[in-house]
Amino acid sequence: MPKLRKVLVANRGEIAIRVMRSCRELGLATVAVFSEADRSALHVRTADQAFCIGPPPSRDSYLHQGRVLEAAKKAGADAIHPGYGFLSENASFVRACEAAGIAFIGPPAAAMDAMGEKTRARAHMTRAGVPVVPGSTEPFGTVEEARAFAAKVGYPVMLKAAGGGGGKGMRRVDDAQGFDSAWRAAKSEAMSSFGNDAVYLEKYLDRPHHVEIQVFADQHGNCVHLNERECSAQRRHQKVVEETPSPILTPAMRQAMGEVAVKAAKAVGYVGAGTVEFLVDSGRHFYFLEMNTRLQVEHPVTEWVTGLDLVALQLKVAQGERLPFDKPLEPRGHAIEARIYAEDPAANFMPSPGRIQYLRVPGGPNVRDDSGVYAGYTVPTVYDPMISKLSVWAPSRPEAIARMKRALSEYVVKGITTNVRYLRAVFEHPEFVGGDYDTGFLQRAHAALLGKDDPALTEVAVLAAAVHAHQREVARAKTLPTRPGTRGLAPWRLVPRGRAKALR
Ligand code: ADP
Repeated sequence: MPKLRKVLVANRGEIAIRVMRSCRELGLATVAVFSEADRSALHVRTADQAFCIGPPPSRDSYLHQGRVLEAAKKAGADAIHPGYGFLSENASFVRACEAAGIAFIGPPAAAMDAMGEKTRARAHMTRAGVPVVPGSTEPFGTVEEARAFAAKVGYPVMLKAAGGGGGKGMRRVDDAQGFDSAWRAAKSEAMSSFGNDAVYLEKYLDRPHHVEIQVFADQHGNCVHLNERECSAQRRHQKVVEETPSPILTPAMRQAMGEVAVKAAKAVGYVGAGTVEFLVDSGRHFYFLEMNTRLQVEHPVTEWVTGLDLVALQLKVAQGERLPFDKPLEPRGHAIEARIYAEDPAANFMPSPGRIQYLRVPGGPNVRDDSGVYAGYTVPTVYDPMISKLSVWAPSRPEAIARMKRALSEYVVKGITTNVRYLRAVFEHPEFVGGDYDTGFLQRAHAALLGKDDPALTEVAVLAAAVHAHQREVARAKTLPTRPGTRGLAPWRLVPRGRAKALR
């Protein structure tokens, strides 16, 4: 494949900008596509060229293969980077790109096909000798069949949509009585979300950890893993915070999981960046969950500890270059990412789109903000409300947590509600700080995390701490000899009188 010159990014928001940054550093021209809802979006302003590809609904714009390809042809782009979501895991789009003579920055369509449906992936992995979460590898024909299988596997079980993704189409069933209604609900959710009502079943693992391995393969048969990411801080089966290294992994586990991930990728002829997801049970056994055949949202933490630019590497691999390493890179230090959402944690995390009136993003040593917004921008209602990903690096985990808290304290977004305070509470929570938090952590800690989210409570806590500190100062001042010319401590007040009354 000849050298790339111009890349169309078939995505929006922070990931489109993230991809364009690497393109620019490599000297590649960039093309944005956008819907009518995104005319003033930052990714449109970032690109060298931009094409409107349709009305706001994704199916008419970002998911419309014909319009994306038409824009690529018009612009003379020789490659399309899909980012994550939208068309990134759509094998028919990969084939359409191939037919149009445009490079798709991602794996071959066949590898995507093999990993696309959860049941198909489980069957492939079982054949390749990769341990999968116990359960079925075929969707069930009837509820009787499924119920009998659940009894064999043992409750609790998880009903899952074969074509599922994004945490949707999953239902935990605790006993036989609840099975039939859960089955009906899972099937109808699978149909409405994925247009495919095939449902299979897995053993429900109790308090597992979600640990995933980044893999990278080139076109010359080299495939290497780039360590793990701990993604157990989840809400409704969706990741909120990610970190690497995983606090629960031993070097031996890392090596074993890494080798299995590479085996999984090789079994399907993988090329490019991919992620093999595992669940780790309380006995520290690990099981293949699924493979995401694209760049992940949380890839920056891997970049922090490896020093690599994964998007640049994707582009180089697409040009036929060899991976610049042939064995796993030792992780250096510790990295954490937090997803910043335009949402209201106090209102059941309801999206909170609207106009950003003021924005101050954190900076300082080893802090990175991958953002898709700016002051004056209106977060649209039609798309995912994630506005940015904040990530930090430090030599050790405690230092990384301290840095993340400091960075979040600098993050100011006015005009819309965000989950910034909620995230700060996560990083202060003893279970997170302890490091052994499983996928149920955020749910269990819900009330505590929201309590911290209450601005009035936070102010009371600040007030109490300040009073305490002042009392300590007073006590200390009393024990100190008074210097000539000083009159002890100045009169002290934390908040104006009226505000103090309101707080009482
Ligand atoms: P999706 O593709 O929708 O993201 P996944 O299969 O990757 O779904 O699972 C997402 C999350 O759901 C996991 O990280 C885990 O928290 C939970 N989960 C999935 N399967 C199981 C299971 N068998 N037992 C317990 N938790 C599970």
